[in-house]
This record gives sequence, structure tokens and C-alpha cells, in this order.
Amino acid sequence: MSARLLILPGDGIGPEIVAEARKVLDALAADGGIDFELETALVGGAAIDVEGVPLPPSTLEAARAADAILLGAVGGPRWEHLDIAIRPEKGLLGLRRELGLFANLRPALLYPQLAAASSLKAEVVAGLDILIVRELTGGIYFGQPRGIRTNDRGEREGFNTLVYSESEIERIARAAFDIAMKRDHRLCSVDKANVLEATELWREVVNRVAADYPDVVVSHMYVDNAAMQLVRAPKQFDVIVTTNMFGDILSDQAAMLTGSIGMLPSASLDAGAKGLYEPIHGSAPDIAGQGVANPLATILSVAMMLRYTLGRPELAARVEEAVSRVLDQGLRTADITAGAAAVGTAAMGDAVVAAL
Ligand code: NAD
Repeated sequence: MSARLLILPGDGIGPEIVAEARKVLDALAADGGIDFELETALVGGAAIDVEGVPLPPSTLEAARAADAILLGAVGGPRWEHLDIAIRPEKGLLGLRRELGLFANLRPALLYPQLAAASSLKAEVVAGLDILIVRELTGGIYFGQPRGIRTNDRGEREGFNTLVYSESEIERIARAAFDIAMKRDHRLCSVDKANVLEATELWREVVNRVAADYPDVVVSHMYVDNAAMQLVRAPKQFDVIVTTNMFGDILSDQAAMLTGSIGMLPSASLDAGAKGLYEPIHGSAPDIAGQGVANPLATILSVAMMLRYTLGRPELAARVEEAVSRVLDQGLRTADITAGAAAVGTAAMGDAVVAAL
């Protein structure tokens, strides 16, 4: 049976990088590795321009019908004047919410060829391979009540609510344990259980789920210490599981250890195998339309799609090895050259296809 893939190029460099990922998908299809039907739809600013909303009903319908979604990026200065409720980013948040994509997987993998691009010493990051599992549909970003109000002293105050139910914690914990079982069997749960009751419960539930995974070594760390350990000795981590906000911050920090935002893919998964796959970076309006963006994070998002939704880990490994080979060949886009001559977006995509 062929897989149904929805492609959402989005804004800025989105269409450029997604075009290269598509070449990789086409190459995999052409040599008989995989069979899929592709559909393309509008999201973000591109959807606002045509339909007036960042997530048109037709796009949501196509996303519901798809087995997996590949997204470029959304957003840009053109839409920044709009009300926050209809900005491009709302398209992405809406997709995550409507599809129940609660588990955000963000690898921080350092390609040895790029060790010099890291802001940390090469020996601290060489061989780094962390996977951060961030809860994506709950916590303080979604908790009610929220808002800005005037208190009884007549002063304005902003407020948000950090709330996690046991079932929300349990499902993200299970997702993280399942992934740890496929990796190095080490899981670190990051919380602030000494201060926040919501994460006291988080810790309790993680420990309860841990009983079902005796082969995984579990540890707990407060988020402030985790931030410190990530730059002090990042290789101590295998899988990290954490709340929405802590994961938001720590995954960006971990990404930077690897040197380039243009190299890192991500997956957002539902309770089944459905997933939305996208590079971690944004729409890079400063370089959009110039053909210089790095397409590798998007191509590596295809590898994650093959592994987590399409059940083809051997093809995922083929794509990852092809990326490694082009780096071995010395090919670099401008974000990872460190000053040397750079190739453009399409040349990088073509090189990956050739290496496949
Ligand atoms: P950004 O990630 O778009 O860009 C940050 C810097 O990294 C820029 O200098 C950019 O040129 C560079 N960069 C990013 N991706 C690159 C690539 N593939 N190759 C080479 N260089 C790359 O972040 P930003 O500038 O803060 O945000 C720009 C827009 O993107 C905003 O509208 C923001 O809301 C949106 N955004 C979207 C997503 C998403 O779609 N998931 C994520 C983050 C930001």
C-alpha cells in the first residue's frame, strides 16, 4: 500500500528546501525503495495570502488524511503586522493541536565533519547524539486561565497556567521510554519538581511508567542543572524527556551545540505513527529566494519520516549516510562553511541524491 504524504512548503526558504527533500523522496521512489502519493497544500503566510487564514480547512483535511506531513517553515516580516490569532505560526500550532501531535522529537546529532562549527570545544561535542522528547500540546503554552488583567490594586498583570494531567505525562513518558529502548537505554527526565507542583507530579508519573521499562536507566534533573550540564558535558545524555516550555528552550540550546541550525530535523508524533516532520529552523527571511539555504535539515526530516512513520529504518539510514557522504566530500552550504566556498541549496540536494 502506498503512503500518503502531504507537503506543506510554507514561507521564506520553505519552498526551496522542501524542493530538495522532494528530490530525495523521488529518488527513493524511483529505485523501488518506497511507494507514496504526494499532495501539496498551503500553510502559514502562503495560506494567508490566498485564503486569509494560516490553516485553511482544506489543508487541515489533507493533513488528517495523510500518513505523514513534511513542512518547510512558516512566517516572515510580511505577516508580522497581523493580529497574533491569524499569524502564520498559528497554522503550525493549529496543525499540532488538531492532529494531537504531542511528542516532539528533536535530535541533536553532531556530524564529525562539522565539529569545528560548534561553539564548544571539539572534544566536548565529538560524537554527540542526544534526542530531546518535548511534550508539545500541553503545559504552560496551552494552560487556562491565561491573559493580561488588572488586579485589585489597579495594576496590570500577565498570567499563565502550568498544568499537566497524569494521562498527558504518562503518554509522553511512554513515548520517550519507547525511543530510549531503541537507543542507548538511558532516559533523563527534566523538571523543576523542587518548585513546581505540576512537575512534582511529572516526576512521580515518570517513575511509575519506568517500572514498565526495567531495561532503561532513568534519571531526573532539575531544568537549571540540565541547562548547565548540556554545555558542560552534553555527552552524558541519551534521551531527555521534558515539558513543553523546558523542551522548547533546552532543544534550541542542544541544537546550537551541533553548530548549525540548518542541519537539524524534527518530528512531532501522535499516539499512533502519524507525524509532522520539519527542520527545526524557521523561514529565514534574510536569505529567502537566494538559493543559499541549507536543505539538509529538511532532507534529514525525510529520514525521520522513514524511521518513525513509514517503518523503513533501513531507508532512513540510507538518507543519513548520503548526507554524511556529501559532508565527507567537502560540500558545504554557507551556514556551515566557516568561510570557505559554499554550494547552493539545489547543488546540495543534487549531491545527496547522487550519494543515495
Ligand atoms: P530562523 O531559523 O528562520 O533564522 C535564524 C538564522 O538562521 C537566520 O540568520 C537564517 O538565515 C539562518 N538559517 C535558518 N535556517 C537556515 C538554513 N536552512 N540554512 C541556512 N541558514 C539558515 O529564525 P528567525 O529569524 O528567528 O525567524 C524567522 C521567521 O521564521 C519568523 O517569522 C519566525 O516566526 C519563523 N519561525 C518558524 C518556525 C517554523 O516554521 N517551525 C520556527 C522558527 C521560526
